[in-house]
Amino acid sequence: MTNDELWKAVLGEMELSLSVANFTTWFKNTSVLSKDKNTVVVSVPNGFIKEWLENKFNKKILLSIRNLAPEVREIRYAVGRPKLELAKHDFSNIILERELEDRSDSEVGKDVDRNTNLNKKYAFESFIVGSNNELAHAACLAITKNLGKLYNPLFIYGGVGLGKTHLLQAIGNKILNESNSRKLLYLSAERFTASILEALVNRSIEDLKSKYSQLDLLMIDDIQFIAGKEKTQDIFFSTFNELYGQNKQIILSSDRPPKAIPALEERLRSRFEGGMIADVGIPDFETRLAILKQKSHEKSYDFEEETLVYIATHIQKNVRELEGALNRIGAFSQIYNRTPDIKEVKNILNTYLSSPYRKTSPQLILKTVADFYSISSNDLTKRSRKKEVVKPRQVAMFLLREETKLSFPEIGQKLGGRDHSTVIHACEKIKSEVSVDEPLKQELVLIRERVYNSFDK
Ligand code: ADP
Ligand code: MG
Repeated sequence: MTNDELWKAVLGEMELSLSVANFTTWFKNTSVLSKDKNTVVVSVPNGFIKEWLENKFNKKILLSIRNLAPEVREIRYAVGRPKLELAKHDFSNIILERELEDRSDSEVGKDVDRNTNLNKKYAFESFIVGSNNELAHAACLAITKNLGKLYNPLFIYGGVGLGKTHLLQAIGNKILNESNSRKLLYLSAERFTASILEALVNRSIEDLKSKYSQLDLLMIDDIQFIAGKEKTQDIFFSTFNELYGQNKQIILSSDRPPKAIPALEERLRSRFEGGMIADVGIPDFETRLAILKQKSHEKSYDFEEETLVYIATHIQKNVRELEGALNRIGAFSQIYNRTPDIKEVKNILNTYLSSPYRKTSPQLILKTVADFYSISSNDLTKRSRKKEVVKPRQVAMFLLREETKLSFPEIGQKLGGRDHSTVIHACEKIKSEVSVDEPLKQELVLIRERVYNSFDK
C-alpha cells in the first residue's frame, strides 16, 4: 500500500464521521509526507490546522491508520505545502491563514507558553511608540522595573486593535526574560471566567484562588467582560485584594475606562481607578507608517515605500487592519511571486477596504449563519424559542457584534426587533461559552471562514 492509498483510506473514514464543512476545513490539502516503520508524517497546510489535528483528531487518525498499518505508533504533523500547489491555492485561503495566525494572539497556538499564556512575538522591541500610546508604553515599561511598587493596578484602555494585548504580553515577556523565577500569568477575561466556572464545577475554587494569590504578576486582558458576572467579579475582587496586599502587580486592559464599564461592581471600579490609568489611541500617520515597516520586517515582506504610504494613508483607525492590508498584499506576492506595483496595490486595498471581512454586511452574516445551521433566515428573526433556532440566533447576534459596527439595539432590530438586553445577553453567553465549548468554537471558525471566503465571490 502506498502512502497515498493509506491516506486516501484514512480520509474516507474521516469523511464519514464528520460534517462536510468540518471535513473540508481540517483535511483539505493534507497528505502523507513520509512513513517509516513506526511513524507517519502528515503534511498540513498551516499551523492552525496542525494544532487541530494534533489535539482533536490525532486519536481518530491513528486508529484509522493502525487498522491498515498496525505497526504505526505515532503520527507527526508537519506544516508545509509543495510550492507547486500554491498557485492553485486560493487567495482567500492564504489570507485567512495569515489572519488566523495574527489573531491567535494570546489564547492558542503553538507559540503560546502553556504556563504563562505568553506569546514571545509580542515584545517591546517590536512595539512602535507614537503620541497615541506614549504614556501607556512608558507606564508598561516602568512597571517591568518596579513590579508591584509603582502603580497598582495598571489599567490600560483603548479601542480594538490598538496594541493593548501587545503591551500586556510584552511586559510579561520582558519580566520572564530578565528573571524566570517570577510567577506570572496572562489571562483574557474570558479565560479567567472559564477557569472559575470550571473550578466551581470541580469544587476546586480554593485551589484556584490560592494559585492566583501566589503570583507576582497577574494580567487580565479585556477585563470589561467580567462585568455582569457576579461570581467572577467576586473571585476577582478577593484575588485582587490578596495580591494587592502583598504588593504583587496587577495589570488590566479594557476597551474603555473603568467608569464607562456598565454592570461593574462599584468596589471593583474604585480598585481599578486606584492605580494608574493610561489609554492607547489611534496612531498618527508617521506611527502607522512605522508600524507597517515593523510588520513588513517581521513577515519578511519587501514592499515599496509607496505601497506602505498608500496603506498608512487609507487605513487609520486600527492597527490590526493595517496588518490585514499588508497580509493581502503579501498574499498577492506569494501567489504571483512578485511584488505588486502601486496600481495593483490600490486594487487590492480597495477590495480590502470594501471587503465583507472589514465591512461584513449584516445580511451576509445572517445568511451564512442560517445556512450553516440549515435553517432559514426567517427563523432567525421569528419569535420562536425552539432550541434549533435559539442557538443560531445567539451566534448571529454575537457575530454581528464582532464583525460589524452595529450597536446592540441595531442588532436587536435586525433580528426581529429584539431588545438590546437580549442581544447583550446572547453576546456574552456565546463569548463565555466559546472558551469552554470546543465544538462551538469550531463552528464559529467555520462560519467566519465562510463569511470571509465570500469576499472573492
Ligand atoms: P488590542 O488588544 O488593543 O485589540 P492588539 O494588541 O491585539 O490590540 O494589536 C493588534 C495588532 O496590532 C497586533 O498584531 C499588534 O502587534 C499590532 N500593534 C498594535 N499597536 C502596535 C504598535 N504600536 N506597534 C506595533 N504593533 C502594534
Ligand atoms: Mg486585545
